[in-house]
Amino acid sequence: MNILKIIARTLKSLSLYELIIGLGLTGRYFFSRKITIQYPEETTPQSPRFRGLHALRRYPNGEERCIACKLCEAVCPAMAITIESELREDNTRRTTRYDIDLTKCIFCGFCEESCPVDSIVETRIFDYHGEERGDLLYTKEMLLDVGDKYEDQIAKDRSEEAKYR
Ligand code: SF4
Ligand code: SF4
Repeated sequence: MNILKIIARTLKSLSLYELIIGLGLTGRYFFSRKITIQYPEETTPQSPRFRGLHALRRYPNGEERCIACKLCEAVCPAMAITIESELREDNTRRTTRYDIDLTKCIFCGFCEESCPVDSIVETRIFDYHGEERGDLLYTKEMLLDVGDKYEDQIAKDRSEEAKYR
């Protein structure tokens, strides 16, 4: 039995069987449709539910949506959100501080789901970076800037998704 096995292995080795199988696999992928893309010139399709960089939104009149209810802060499993708030002269509550520490965030989307006024959202942006740890601590101003810049895309994604909410 052992001798038969040795003969079979020798024949396999002499016939370059494994090399031919390997070349066959290479050939199959060489002629098939390529799945790699030339990023950043090309990108893959994204879902409207993509959970990327956070943004704070405003109403069309420029008013901040956030009413400082702190639901997002309470629900965040990573404790990445810090909110401080105060009453304004018109008796409405608004945040004086809204920070997200993106080094803690796990991009679960709970903050977005919990928000009653669609204020905190996650955008499609995934290619951002920080040189230092502090660069990834996003303040209220930074989050509002992201919201202002990408509002058209955010609003489009929200409306597409609204029927499933
Ligand atoms: S996505 Fe999740 S972890 Fe990140 S801030 Fe929102 S609730 Fe917290
Ligand atoms: S972002 Fe939404 S959930 Fe968070 S404090 Fe503001 S209104 Fe409340």
